[in-house]
Amino acid sequence: MNPSQHSSVPPEQTLDPGDWNAFRAQAHRLLDAAVDRMEGYREGPVWTPLPLGLQADYQVPLRSKGMGPEAIERHLTALLPYGVGNTHPRFFGWVHGSGTPGNLLADITAATMNANLGGRDHGAMYVEKQVVNWCREIFQFPETSSGLIVSGTSIATIVALKTARDRCFDFSSRKTGLQKTALGQLVGYTSAQTHSCVARAFDILGLGSDALRKIAVNEHFEIDTYALQTAITEDRAAGFTPFVIVGTAGAVNVGAIDDLETLADIAQAEKLWLHIDGAFGALGVLCEQLRPRLTGIKRADSLAFDFHKWLHVNYDAGFILMRSEELHRRTFSERPEYLKGAERGLAAGNPWPVEYGPELSRGFRALKVWTQLAEHGTDKLGALIAQNCAQAAYLKTLVDDHPHMDMVAPVAMNICCLRYRAPGQDELEVDRLNDEIVVQLQVQGLAAPSTTLVNGRNAIRVNITNHRTTRADMDMLILEIDRIGQELMIATNWIKNNPKSLADKH
Ligand SMILES: *Cc1c(COP(=O)(O)O)cnc(C)c1O
Repeated sequence: MNPSQHSSVPPEQTLDPGDWNAFRAQAHRLLDAAVDRMEGYREGPVWTPLPLGLQADYQVPLRSKGMGPEAIERHLTALLPYGVGNTHPRFFGWVHGSGTPGNLLADITAATMNANLGGRDHGAMYVEKQVVNWCREIFQFPETSSGLIVSGTSIATIVALKTARDRCFDFSSRKTGLQKTALGQLVGYTSAQTHSCVARAFDILGLGSDALRKIAVNEHFEIDTYALQTAITEDRAAGFTPFVIVGTAGAVNVGAIDDLETLADIAQAEKLWLHIDGAFGALGVLCEQLRPRLTGIKRADSLAFDFHKWLHVNYDAGFILMRSEELHRRTFSERPEYLKGAERGLAAGNPWPVEYGPELSRGFRALKVWTQLAEHGTDKLGALIAQNCAQAAYLKTLVDDHPHMDMVAPVAMNICCLRYRAPGQDELEVDRLNDEIVVQLQVQGLAAPSTTLVNGRNAIRVNITNHRTTRADMDMLILEIDRIGQELMIATNWIKNNPKSLADKH
């Protein structure tokens, strides 16, 4: 009998293993399966949909009796190959980081500690504070700045814009809401290329997404700063209250970097908050080639970015960096008696992260960020960013030299938008053809680019935020696009046979 158990009652239950040796053996087996999978990331299809048999495993009624550890091990091992595909060197869709084996060790440690980083004084908190300090250093923010690790840029944007919003009301809006403000309607500005998370933040914060003015872009897909200035002036004249400019360092469609220095000048002159969405692009400051185009970041009031994109931290981990710790804390701090801090003991360690964002309970994301930065160092992480940009430039040369493909946007960083050409076909048919090429690349497991619209036409979008990608992967991508394009065009007379899919789309 367990020596801690009371003799007068039957043994009490726990979720701990009954047999620690069996658990240890099981953990070792699963670890081996995980490392095997990682070693073989390049092998096999990029994306494999979950087979029907395994789908069925996740469509069963809730169990009242547990299936036990052996069955769980079988399920976990069976699931390993069926990720999004972003661990594969030819995953080029959206903006996904590729993760690192080193992060597995961080996640094992974090799972073992099972720390809650809402606050208090314990080991994990020191790791997060170190990460916050390193972020200040990376982006040259002052000592008086603050930061918080969050799930991603979407949440980071909400934290930043709430601060920008509440500051306008000297924080009285935290109590009264926005129902009866004397300021009229708040409006903000961003480019037409901005990620949808900015409008979502406006929505969530009760400002309404219409209050976000989408300013036109120039031929480089960067915000037109003259149009921005005009919009601000017109809004003021019409009685609106401009309060924020959201610049983008790496727009999601084509990777454009707004003229951040000019945005900082305008924000300063107009007394507006400058927020920068640097989800993937901001970490370009780690490489010499991109750093000169990102100098405006250090003038921002707030910066949102992700570790899980170009830093390859395993999902999920993003960050909000705020120039003013004071404004940041005044936006979120609310410490009821049961969360009171102390000078000594476990309740010390002030200020607590709960004072900087909406979450109280928070996992130990900081550890995987810390291990990534500490194990590899900023030089290597920066060099990998430069490597991806060089690969995108190389891909552009392949497209430029190809008779059946065109680039449809400049390559600002790591994203190539290209279009398969089909001479003699109507543009709508070419749109559909490009969409189908991407679907075929994905379902045949060859590569996983995504699609987007550039100047109103479908494009094949190749985003490279992947430390496993090589130039040979670019060569193969072009060969396969061409092969699939030719097959669709010539062999099957595909478009004529699929009038319905055309009608669906347009
Ligand atoms: C990915 C991305 C976002 C959203 O970030 P999440 O981490 O997915 O919440 C916002 N902006 C840009 C430019 C992005 O690439």
